[in-house]
Amino acid sequence: MDTIELTIRIPALEHDRIIGWLEGWATGFVQEDATLRAYIPPDRWSPTRRKQLQKRLAADGYPNAVTVQRLSDRNWNEAWEQSITPVRAGPFLLCPTSAAVPPDEADATVLRVDPAMSFGTGHHATTRLALRLLANRLSPGDRVLDVGTGTGVLAIAACRHGATTAVGVDTDSNAVRNARQNAAQNEVADCVTVRHGSVAAAPEGSFDVVVANVTRDTLLDLLPALHDRLTTDGSLILSGLLTGQRSHMEGALRDRALTIVEEIDEEGWWACAATSGPANFPPD
Ligand code: SAH
Repeated sequence: MDTIELTIRIPALEHDRIIGWLEGWATGFVQEDATLRAYIPPDRWSPTRRKQLQKRLAADGYPNAVTVQRLSDRNWNEAWEQSITPVRAGPFLLCPTSAAVPPDEADATVLRVDPAMSFGTGHHATTRLALRLLANRLSPGDRVLDVGTGTGVLAIAACRHGATTAVGVDTDSNAVRNARQNAAQNEVADCVTVRHGSVAAAPEGSFDVVVANVTRDTLLDLLPALHDRLTTDGSLILSGLLTGQRSHMEGALRDRALTIVEEIDEEGWWACAATSGPANFPPD
């Protein structure tokens, strides 16, 4: 199938707003410093949508920021291949199947993630932040829920890091297919389960670690449902926020009696782990 590629020249800190706006249509995004690329199936794209997008960007001070290109199936794959090189995040190395593991990364837990049309190659800071927190919070035998699994990268990483089960859910059926393929490719298909839908699509029960790397508005909407699925002393890992959005999220967590126990940031993005148990006081 052909794909519409939008190339939008806007600063990185503006990307998440436009991603939030395009989320209903686009099936994949690639973020570079001053460029956001969005991939949209042709049947979801129209001249009217193009005009709406251009109008919105112009109103934000970015006139003529969009170029639109139709990619054939083959070009689409080539575009992905070029944008993907191995990336380190905590103990993990995200490495597409087409790339060799660099010799100086021999100690890493290698995750083979081919994105097809889903988000989550590790080229975005929010994915790397979520992976680092996941590695820190996960204990052997944990049950993990990954909301907005995309490529399945976080669920796969959880299983490679000792989780007994990781459930990934995603509202995008392309992501569901891609996450299942990636789980099989990483030989964790017996540990990773992928379901189409949001939190309610996960099997009943609670999880020791609940992780979500989605946009700020989605995180705020989903917070009660995410919290409901957390075991009493479980860790809730949230990524997809800008550093400037920290206090807002901290307030929303506090309203639910959740305490931030770890926070990290990278390239202007912020992520945290919160628990409803007592805060982790330093040992005596
Ligand atoms: N977990 C991956 C991908 C994050 S991208 C990573 O960390 O890199 C966010 C994903 O969330 C997308 O695949 C999108 O389809 C999905 N998504 C957005 N809103 C959602 C919702 N309300 N419930 C479940 N998935 C959602």
